[in-house]
Amino acid sequence: MEIDHHFYKELMDRLYDGVYFMDNDRRILYWNRGAERVTGFKAEEVVGRHCRDHVLMHVDDKGTLLCESSLCPACKTMTDGKDREAEIYVHHKHGHRLPVLTRVRVLRNARGEIIGAMEVFTDNRHAEQTKKRIAELEKLALIDPLTRIGNRRFAEIQLQRSLSDMHRYGWLFAVFFMDIDHFKTINDTHGHHTGDRVLKTVSRTIVRSIRDSDILSRWGGEEFVVIVPNAVRDEIEIMGNKMRSLVEHSYIWKDSKPLQVTISVGGTAARLDDSPQTVIARADNLMYRSKESGRNRVTTDLTAD
Ligand code: GH3
Ligand code: MG
Ligand code: MG
Repeated sequence: MEIDHHFYKELMDRLYDGVYFMDNDRRILYWNRGAERVTGFKAEEVVGRHCRDHVLMHVDDKGTLLCESSLCPACKTMTDGKDREAEIYVHHKHGHRLPVLTRVRVLRNARGEIIGAMEVFTDNRHAEQTKKRIAELEKLALIDPLTRIGNRRFAEIQLQRSLSDMHRYGWLFAVFFMDIDHFKTINDTHGHHTGDRVLKTVSRTIVRSIRDSDILSRWGGEEFVVIVPNAVRDEIEIMGNKMRSLVEHSYIWKDSKPLQVTISVGGTAARLDDSPQTVIARADNLMYRSKESGRNRVTTDLTAD
């Protein structure tokens, strides 16, 4: 196998992810810039060497050395031809271990014979941090078990913290209250289990539509609260509509048919004399205006006037 195509090499080098190719003997043939960035090893230090030459020394979360065992994801893929994904730890040139998410794809020649494998790996730090944060919150009983986001108690703590920051540093923030429309009908028509799947989908959609610094929690049954630090008053409606629209365009499959729900949203800017209760009550009232005016809507301090 020869990798001498300048165009593809350029393209590979521009990727943020680490990419490398190996032949059937697990000799590394190509190592892109992303792989250099993540591991600290330059291409010239690894190309031509074997996986087992103690370069990468992938381990799993139990510390098992994958290169020397039958657990090596690349070996398995080169044997059975199936693509795989694994959360592993690579060895950084400086000696420490790095969590990465690696995806292995089989490489075949024109006759369809397996000639090697390609691994694409992503710096898994964010996922690791999120996992740690969830484990900490679980310990404190601040996690909602169904959706795996913070619960009402967590939201109250975060609101109190945001209010203190506002008093101390002048950092403004916004609060959104959201309630799924006609959720009782979903439960009554499709059953509680499907209702639960909908709750998880809505929460996942919202989590992915907000920034890392924004905080989503499950306030109660089918009600969610989002706290947005540094929100500008004029942007509240746009933010609310983004979340509303993404939920409207998400769906789960139920009996071979897509099942969608909508949310009604109330969005408000925190005020200096607010307490967690008053800011939530205002967002909740604005949410009710959205229900009254037809549901699947956003009402804010500005649009309610
Ligand atoms: P509206 O548009 O006015 O909000 O109508 P709605 O049907 O959503 O409002 P209602 O408050 O009457 O219904 C909320 C339903 O949410 C009732 C309750 O059974 C259901 N619910 C609450 N928690 C859960 C849960 O954890 N799982 C499921 N599946 N349903 C839940
Ligand atoms: Mg409700
Ligand atoms: Mg509802």
